Amino acid sequence: MTEKISLAKETKQILQENGIILNKNLGQNYLIDDFKRKKIIEYANLTKEDTVLEIGPGIGTLTIELAKKAGKVIAIEQDTAIFNILKKRLEKEQIDNVELINGDAVKVDFPKFNKIVSNLPYQISSPISFKFLEHEFDLAVLMYQKEFADRMNGKVGTKQYSRLSAMIYFKADVKFLTKVSPESFIPSPKVDSSVVELKPKEKKIADDDFRIYSKVVKALFQHRNKKARNALIDSRHIIGFKDKKELKTILNNLEDEDSRIKELLLERTINLSPESIMELSILLKEHIN
Ligand code: SAH
Repeated sequence: MTEKISLAKETKQILQENGIILNKNLGQNYLIDDFKRKKIIEYANLTKEDTVLEIGPGIGTLTIELAKKAGKVIAIEQDTAIFNILKKRLEKEQIDNVELINGDAVKVDFPKFNKIVSNLPYQISSPISFKFLEHEFDLAVLMYQKEFADRMNGKVGTKQYSRLSAMIYFKADVKFLTKVSPESFIPSPKVDSSVVELKPKEKKIADDDFRIYSKVVKALFQHRNKKARNALIDSRHIIGFKDKKELKTILNNLEDEDSRIKELLLERTINLSPESIMELSILLKEHIN
């Protein structure tokens, strides 16, 4: 308990000394819970062989602990005032294995890394996660808004099953690690948070198959409760069709040729597993561009 108070006090003190008022629009909710900090660091299972990427280090609450365990930390912070505070803090503590980058993590190129550990700015959860998944890495331990984490991990047929679940499915395994409540941050967000683990899948999907799959997923999830056939027809522009009739004719022909495609098209989107959506995408492939 004393440690929790001390991290909270330390954080408030640093912010106050530097005249910083945190900006909610930048997703600035700073971790003040030392127990959760320890857990996050433990989950990452760091050795001196590791290079850790951290997005949104803030004043260094995770960064400093990461730097003690990892070989190197690369931390990308967008807010220049916060970046300068962290820079001074690292100098003062004589931590020299942190490469600090002042920029927007969605835009800057990532240097090489093999693990990611971050309490993310929640407003960039989606673009930054997809950016992570374009890179090779061993493990990510990430804090998200709980609802987002639930959707990442959504199982077919449930309320949480979403475009995000289907998109992540072939890229990484998602594992829930621990929940973090609003009081663990200043200022307290209005939402619960979850720490999750992402492990990239060893088996990679061919780029072209994934490109078609992404379009089909997007089209289907615009109508999650409709039958796939109707969802595709209603979102035909996403899969490259202007004309409703043209798509209907193609689907009719495919259904006549193949009973499996008929079966898939009759399912509602939320009941189609990622594997089934992939199957459907491959069956439709030659008609979609
Ligand atoms: N990791 C710290 C801070 C988390 S708050 C802690 O746990 O206490 C998220 C941080 O991300 C803030 O410091 C915010 O300024 C920064 N940030 C917001 N948008 C960003 C972006 N697009 N790129 C990099 N950093 C960003």
